[in-house]
Amino acid sequence: MSNKKEVKITCPHCDAVSPFTVWLSVNTRDDPELKQAVRDQSLFRFTCPYCGVTTMIDYGMLYHQPEEKVMIHYAITPENEKEVVGMLTDPEKNVPFRPLFENNYLIRVVRSRNQLLEKLAEFDANFDDRMIELYKLSLEEAFRKEHPESGDLQILFFNTENGEQMFQIIDGTETKGVVPLNTSFYYTLLQRHGIEMGEMSKETPIVNGDWARTFLTTDPFRKDMRNTEDQIN
Ligand SMILES: [Zn+2]
Repeated sequence: MSNKKEVKITCPHCDAVSPFTVWLSVNTRDDPELKQAVRDQSLFRFTCPYCGVTTMIDYGMLYHQPEEKVMIHYAITPENEKEVVGMLTDPEKNVPFRPLFENNYLIRVVRSRNQLLEKLAEFDANFDDRMIELYKLSLEEAFRKEHPESGDLQILFFNTENGEQMFQIIDGTETKGVVPLNTSFYYTLLQRHGIEMGEMSKETPIVNGDWARTFLTTDPFRKDMRNTEDQIN
């Protein structure tokens, strides 16, 4: 079941206060129209009825897509992330989630709207999010080599309207480039690491850049992966 509440939003443009619906949880089987509304971000868009200016409202939510056995919790604070990860991984607390584990549910916890959208894009394209994180590390390394002046890089996976898979490279707040996913490099990663990693549904709920870095520091094939960097482009 989806769960929503009404909150009051003060328009940053004209200061008028108006109601806005916040979706605490989204269940796409009960409310199929929300599936697209999360992806096009209309659930996060507030249009002021007084001045007409649109503002993005960021809030955490539990996204549940039972048809594909996907559950993504967007934790808006580090405290909430810790609490949810504890509920999922502590054997004394995770009893209510066991039916989901037994059903091979794909459960992830993310910390930003971009990460939520990225996970959805990955699962929509039937990709393993762990391979995409490894892919992004390679991409980052290659990009830094060419642009040593780069600051804080963020790389996001997305699907275009035409169904192409791409990565967006962001330095700070500025988009530095858009690179198409090279399918053969993705499958190279999958062949190299897939068996060792095991099932996606058995993975820890947080799969991000730090996860990939930790994985590689303990992975015997790390050097091999570096040697295949030239396959990315
Ligand atoms: Zn306004």
